[in-house]
Amino acid sequence: MSSPTTPTTAAEVLDVYRRHLSRGRARLASMTGAAMEVTSRGAYVWDADGKEYLDCGGYGVFLLGHCHPQVVEAVTAQVRRHPMATRLLLEPVAATAASELAGVTPPGLDRVHFVNSGAEAVETAIKLARAQGKTRLISAVGGYHGKTTGALALTSQPLYQDPFRPLLPAEHVPFGDLGKLAEALGHGGPACLVLEPVQGEGGVVIPPPGYLAQVQRLCTEHGAFFVLDEIQTGMGRLGTWWGADPEDIRPDVLLVGKGLSGGVIPVAAAVSTAAAYAPFDRDPFLHTSTFAASPVAMAAAAAAVRAIAGERLVERAGVLGHDILARAEAALAPLRGDIVADIRGRGLLIGIEMCDAQTAGELVLHLLDAGLLTNHSLNAQRVVRLTPPAVLRDADLERIGAALTTAAAALLRSASSRPGRG
Ligand code: PLP
Repeated sequence: MSSPTTPTTAAEVLDVYRRHLSRGRARLASMTGAAMEVTSRGAYVWDADGKEYLDCGGYGVFLLGHCHPQVVEAVTAQVRRHPMATRLLLEPVAATAASELAGVTPPGLDRVHFVNSGAEAVETAIKLARAQGKTRLISAVGGYHGKTTGALALTSQPLYQDPFRPLLPAEHVPFGDLGKLAEALGHGGPACLVLEPVQGEGGVVIPPPGYLAQVQRLCTEHGAFFVLDEIQTGMGRLGTWWGADPEDIRPDVLLVGKGLSGGVIPVAAAVSTAAAYAPFDRDPFLHTSTFAASPVAMAAAAAAVRAIAGERLVERAGVLGHDILARAEAALAPLRGDIVADIRGRGLLIGIEMCDAQTAGELVLHLLDAGLLTNHSLNAQRVVRLTPPAVLRDADLERIGAALTTAAAALLRSASSRPGRG
């Protein structure tokens, strides 16, 4: 048996990916030149060759950028002091993180159940609803709620669902359509509705104004359990602490993830009203996970909330979002119509909808070449998503504009060289 060695070159790492991790991931990595990310700080990531990337991707995790000093400091101090808990004794850092988070969630949402990932937060909400008889699941077409089997029933995407059927039964209604939602809530037994305030992986889909308030009204009318999935939109990404804020709503459960980690340690949470949380308040062993609420994750969560509040990053996200949207509009103006179908966003959740999926892939690669990391949308292949950190400076904004301009020129060149085009 040969002894394993540490792979260092891209070729070696690719080989280990093929043998031990995923051949598919290795294939994708080859398409992006097999660049390896090795360091990060603030809005930037560096690869092994020293190339610098401005991170507008990261699937929405890095609201605080990378290695935020306050979060790193809190986490390293906690690692040295007491990283994991026995779970038998009281653990004060969990109490601190819960108070910090409950201090910024909408009034009445103050019962906090910490977990390790967004999908686990979704599972938590599904179980809270089921424990109270709301067993019929409803979510929105295009909605993304994770890939564990319960959450997957809500994630409306055959590509991810079909290999794993049968899943929990769930009904998917068109996002933004109150009539269809009223119909779905009105037939059958008590329901649990899970929605995002703005669909992220669905391709940055913004519902009509007033939609969420009406959704809440319908849920109350039909006795439905209302779960607002703010895993991607929350913690200030939309320029408000929560997508719930502009319509002043209070769901039964609000889901938090991604930015809660401070970009340092995975952590997510389901934050409930006292009534919704009653089953777990009564029996703390009803829903548990060994690593949930580990002190090291709690240190990250508490520090992340403090840093976002202390640096006024929620307001900053709104200002930066307007600026980036305007730069994207200007840079991509020559492509509007035939190549770019739409540009939209709220705060630092910005979508560039291309006319076809192939061009969306090309845009991601051209931006990568220009040193800008972005993401495609998991449930909308034509939409390239920008989820930049709220710690950008003016020079970073200029860089984003310049990268978009360079990518636009490259797309125009390849479009004009295609047969049948001028
Ligand atoms: N819900 C939403 C709205 C998400 O955007 C995501 C992830 O992108 C999830 C749930 C699942 O989170 P995770 O990937 O941490 O399991």
